[in-house]
Amino acid sequence: MLKKERADAEIKDLKKNLVEFSWLISMSDEELKDQYNEFPAPELNRKTNMWETTTAFCSLGGCEYRHRANKTEREALIQSIVATKLGEKTDTNGTCPECYREYMRDSI
Ligand SMILES: [Zn+2]
Repeated sequence: MLKKERADAEIKDLKKNLVEFSWLISMSDEELKDQYNEFPAPELNRKTNMWETTTAFCSLGGCEYRHRANKTEREALIQSIVATKLGEKTDTNGTCPECYREYMRDSI
């Protein structure tokens, strides 16, 4: 019984999110840019032709070392807004491989 109640609550949450997120699709690019989100503005990577959003900053050097890639800026913005509404944040606890190597070398 408890399992069913939990499943019902999850479905209710999901429906609420779908209704909320469906508004994003009808928004203009400018309106999307005005929506609050936790992530830095996406940037076009000219080598891959993908829009990249930084999702992790290195705690040692402040380097941007993990990205989410989308085909369009609009997709990238929508994904950042949805991720923010679902409680995701940029990761600032980890270290990038270069800084980690340097740190290990210096501490020996
Ligand atoms: Zn780093």
